[in-house]
Amino acid sequence: VEEIDNVKAEYVRSFEFDTKLMPSTWVVVRIDGCHFHKFSEAHDFVKPNDERALNLMNWCAMAVLQEFHQDVVFAYGVSDEYSFILRRSSNLYQRRANEIISALVSFFTSMYVMKWKSFFLQKELNYPPSFDARAVCYPSTEILRDYLSWRQVDCHINNQYNSCFWKLVASGKSKKEAQHSLKGAQLQKKVEELGIDYNNLPIMFRQGSSVFWEEGDNLSIHQENGESNEGCRKVTLAHCDIIGSAFWLKHPSILD
Ligand code: ATP
Ligand code: ATP
Ligand code: MG
Ligand code: MG
Ligand code: MG
Repeated sequence: VEEIDNVKAEYVRSFEFDTKLMPSTWVVVRIDGCHFHKFSEAHDFVKPNDERALNLMNWCAMAVLQEFHQDVVFAYGVSDEYSFILRRSSNLYQRRANEIISALVSFFTSMYVMKWKSFFLQKELNYPPSFDARAVCYPSTEILRDYLSWRQVDCHINNQYNSCFWKLVASGKSKKEAQHSLKGAQLQKKVEELGIDYNNLPIMFRQGSSVFWEEGDNLSIHQENGESNEGCRKVTLAHCDIIGSAFWLKHPSILD
């Protein structure tokens, strides 16, 4: 009977397949909140940018870097999304796509639920939020930088649009009217027309959030004490331009 069971197990297993992420490429796992338009309304998010929600997203992303500290080297987040970058040489789950994507997004989601109360205080979580996720391989650092630039440009354009939209709504327009008056409009012009002091909006709204490892400055002390370098790296949160080269030149070890 045992022998038959073993044969059966092998046969049933043969239907499974692995999609392996291409070796030596940068892997980006992008998660995105499912139906957060509705979720944000159901939880009274401040529009267009609820700081509590963004801070919670950032906290969860920092926890992902801690948890997957061997593999995730950088993350960029805006709105209900976060992109996690795995180093080229990562061998997490032998680069099996399904395992990597599901482990990362479920960790993020449970952290989001666990930490909800710390960020939203008296506001109850009405129903369980969920996130979807996908993985994409980028074969060169140049293309990875282009990917990140694309996300940050998207952050800027969406933020301009949303700032105008909610300014119009606040001025008494219906959502439909606001949408209509922004259709095909030059956003930069609209921002000025509506008297939005765009450059003085919090930098987190304008630039999104970057999370990465920073080497501690007390490295030598720890090494003298025989501690590993690992203990000196620290997860850091910043809101800065990642399109230009300055950030990457300042932190050459992130994408080395
Ligand atoms: P999908 O399931 O297709 O992703 P979605 O409703 O989540 O649908 P998105 O394009 O991901 O659509 O947009 C996320 C929406 O969530 C935004 O349009 C905005 O309404 C809301 N949202 C997310 N984060 C915040 C925030 N920090 N403050 C205010 N609103 C937010
Ligand atoms: P991996 O991350 O590789 O899946 P794992 O520790 O989760 O590692 P599994 O092969 O998935 O390993 O086994 C799950 C383990 O979780 C079991 O070996 C058992 O120790 C524990 N476990 C799960 N469910 C129960 C349960 N209901 N009662 C007691 N122990 C449980
Ligand atoms: Mg989605
Ligand atoms: Mg979404
Ligand atoms: Mg989104």
